[in-house]
Amino acid sequence: MKRVLITGAAGFLGSHLCDRFIKEGYNVVGMDNLITGDLKNIEHLFKLENFEFYNHDVSKFVHVPGDLDYILHFASPASPIDYLKIPIQTLKVGSLGTHNLLGLAKAKKACMLIASTSEVYGDPNVHPQPETYWGNVNPVGPRGVYDEAKRFQEAITMAYHTFHGLDTKIVRIFNTYGPRMRLNDGRVLPAFIGQALRGEDLTIFGDGSQTRSFCYVDDLVEGIYRLLLSDYHQPVNIGNPSEITISQFAEEIIKLTGTNQKVIYKDLPVDDPKQRQPDITRAREILNWELKVSREEGLKITYDYFRSLSQEELYKSKHRFE
Ligand code: UDP
Repeated sequence: MKRVLITGAAGFLGSHLCDRFIKEGYNVVGMDNLITGDLKNIEHLFKLENFEFYNHDVSKFVHVPGDLDYILHFASPASPIDYLKIPIQTLKVGSLGTHNLLGLAKAKKACMLIASTSEVYGDPNVHPQPETYWGNVNPVGPRGVYDEAKRFQEAITMAYHTFHGLDTKIVRIFNTYGPRMRLNDGRVLPAFIGQALRGEDLTIFGDGSQTRSFCYVDDLVEGIYRLLLSDYHQPVNIGNPSEITISQFAEEIIKLTGTNQKVIYKDLPVDDPKQRQPDITRAREILNWELKVSREEGLKITYDYFRSLSQEELYKSKHRFE
């Protein structure tokens, strides 16, 4: 049985990856320091024999006893609110954390896949964004701590590949959504659905003309799984090219939730990208990967998940914003 280490295992994407690798018959070692992750996301796995968990911060030396075949580095704060609250941790997990895990991968002769991001393109001047675009990032802006950590992460991963011959994979993840997102993480989908469920107005930042492209988590996980098993070492975009404005997105959430609340406008955060849409030609050609879940379908599943949360969780989530 192959053994895989997944960092950020208690987070949104990490927990879905744990589920997928368990389903595929792997031994899964989850690791998380729970700074933004939540054990609730993986509590169903603790009873399984092929799942173990370490509460550890990967910015510090990482020790895992036994063999490892794969390492998937998904530990990182991942929302603009988090970057503002915990900027140093955001920088460290992407840089020092990646370095530690590359060292571990080298020692174990494991294949290492890193979670990079559409944020490496910054506020893009090329649209849609192919992997060959180098990006437009403000290194000293509020998002710089995330963007530059991820750019460094790509650079050091590629250096380990070329210099040490390590088997490495780089996925550039575009906006992804689904069950287990944190209701209070500040990102647009949990923000809008949380507001609708609490009977509050929906907050659009700026005039709502900025665009994003939202990918359902199962489609993303499928792309990552295929990339890991491929022999491709250059970055690969995974995301859904179906692009909408944030105003249209608010309308879809209003329709889905049936809320009577209105939309209110707040200041656009500094360096908020104006548009974002992945060019997924490479993923299609190399991984033979196709999207399966429409936004309508994915949003319904996600809304049902948020509706199943307790009132306490719904209101607890409010305070983080204020
Ligand atoms: N946004 C918004 N209202 C909110 C939260 C976010 O209008 O309550 C906007 C945000 O300014 C951005 C877009 O929605 O333009 C997506 O934001 P998110 O934080 O989800 O992630 P990003 O793609 O910016 O990293």
